[in-house]
Amino acid sequence: MSTREGSLEAPKRHPIDWKNPDFYNEASLNQEMERVFDICQGCRRCVNLCTAFPRLFDLIDESATGELDSVNKNQFWEVVDRCYLCDMCFMTKCPYVPPHEWNIDFPHLMLRAKAAKYKSKGAGFRDKLLSSTDLMGKLATIPVVVQTVNAINKTPVTRKLMDSMLGIHADRKLPEYTANKFRSNAKSNDTFPVKDGTRTPGKVAIYATCYINYNEPGIGHDLLKILEHNEIPACLVEKEACCGMPKLELGDLEAVEKLKNENIPHLLKLAQAGYAILSAVPSCTLMYKQELPLLFPDDEAVQAV
Ligand code: SF4
Ligand code: SF4
Repeated sequence: MSTREGSLEAPKRHPIDWKNPDFYNEASLNQEMERVFDICQGCRRCVNLCTAFPRLFDLIDESATGELDSVNKNQFWEVVDRCYLCDMCFMTKCPYVPPHEWNIDFPHLMLRAKAAKYKSKGAGFRDKLLSSTDLMGKLATIPVVVQTVNAINKTPVTRKLMDSMLGIHADRKLPEYTANKFRSNAKSNDTFPVKDGTRTPGKVAIYATCYINYNEPGIGHDLLKILEHNEIPACLVEKEACCGMPKLELGDLEAVEKLKNENIPHLLKLAQAGYAILSAVPSCTLMYKQELPLLFPDDEAVQAV
C-alpha cells in the first residue's frame, strides 16, 4: 500500500515496449487493465474528461457486485474504444503517473489494448479509410473532385448512407476539403536574418500536417504571416506524410513506423541544420514530441527531431 496520496515528482513516461510479444498477450493485458481500472474506480478524478471513464465507472456500478471483478472482461473494450488518446488524463489529472509506485499511464494502456486488438482482429473498412488522412486528402482535393466531395458530403441522402454503411453519424459536422492546398500555395519567407534568442534557434521549418494542408489551409497561412510579422525566417518541410496519429489511434503500430520512416529523414536534415520544427496541429506535435520518441527510444534520428 502506498504511503503517499500522489507523486510530487515530475511525471516520467516509460518507453512503449511494443516490439515485445508480451505487449500483445491477452492474459497479461487483461491483468494490467484490471489493475489500473481498479485504481481508477477508487479515484474517479477523470470522470469528466471523456466518455471512456464514465463508461468504465458505469460498467462497475451496474455490475452484480458493484466491483470490477464482476464486470465481464469483454466489456473492457467499450472503455478502450472510447479513448482517443488525447493524453489529458495523464497530463492534467492523474497523481499516480510514474515515478509514483502505482505506475498509471492510462493512455498508453489504452494504446496497448488497441494495438493488441489490431494485431488479432485488424480493423474495419471505415477505420482504415478514416485513418488514412493523407490518402483521403490527396484524392479528395483533386480539382473538380473536391467540389463534388464537399457537395456530396452535405446531402442528406449521402449522410444517411454514410451513417448506415460507415457508422459516421448523419449529423456529425465533417471538415470540408480545400481546392487550394496549403503546401502548394504557402508563401514562406526565409530571407530575414536569423536572430538567435536565448531559447530558440531563430529559424523555423513548418510541418504542414494533413489537416492544414487538405482542410484548413488558412491556419497555415496565418502562421506564416505571424512569422513574417516577427521577421522570423521560415521554410516548409521539403516533403511530408501524415504524422501517424490516426494510425496510432487505430493501434496499427506498423503503419506508424512506416510513416515515421518517411518523415524523419526530411525532418532530421532540418533539425541538424538548426531549425525549430513547427506544426499548428497539437496532436501532430504530440506525435513527434512524445509518442514517436517513446515508441522508438533507440532511434537517434527520432530523438534528434
Ligand atoms: S487519453 Fe483517453 S482516457 Fe485519457 S482523457 Fe483522453 S480520451 Fe480519455
Ligand atoms: S487515470 Fe489516474 S486520476 Fe484518472 S481516474 Fe485513473 S487513477 Fe484517477
